Amino acid sequence: MPLKPVAIRFDVSILTKSPLGFSLTLDVDTGPETLTDLRVNFLRGTIHAVRIREGLLLQGTVHSQLELECVRCLEHFLFPVAVELEEIFWIPGSGPRPEGAYVVSDSGWLDMAPLLREQIWVAIPMKPLCRPDCKGLCPNCGANLNLGPCECETTDVDPRLAALKAML
Ligand SMILES: [Zn+2]
Ligand SMILES: [Zn+2]
Repeated sequence: MPLKPVAIRFDVSILTKSPLGFSLTLDVDTGPETLTDLRVNFLRGTIHAVRIREGLLLQGTVHSQLELECVRCLEHFLFPVAVELEEIFWIPGSGPRPEGAYVVSDSGWLDMAPLLREQIWVAIPMKPLCRPDCKGLCPNCGANLNLGPCECETTDVDPRLAALKAML
């Protein structure tokens, strides 16, 4: 079932006007969510947001979990992700915008969804494996070899069966 893309929004307007060094704790606890093109089962973490000269410095860890497809056996499996965040959100009017920085809206809202999406994408392996020693699929019959040997394998190793097959 497709889920609607979300914004993970926090009202940080109190920090936009506060002196440097003031901070807020932002609790992330949501899911399942679809971050544009990325579906996650949950997002959980605690982020510390500190007022700095350019805006807000966000620091903390967010835990998540995705469902991936193993490149060898094609089974789906759950993949845990922990992203360590350290990111500046620029507050308009607080000097020049740091290159590539996310922006706090004029009304003082911060959306963490694009940042989390980006960081989780980076954590996904290019070739996901359900386990390091996944045996994959038999190239002959397509059986999942993690569940046990397939028929072809026995035929190959048993010379008597091979001889019988040749006779038939
Ligand atoms: Zn596998
Ligand atoms: Zn086979």
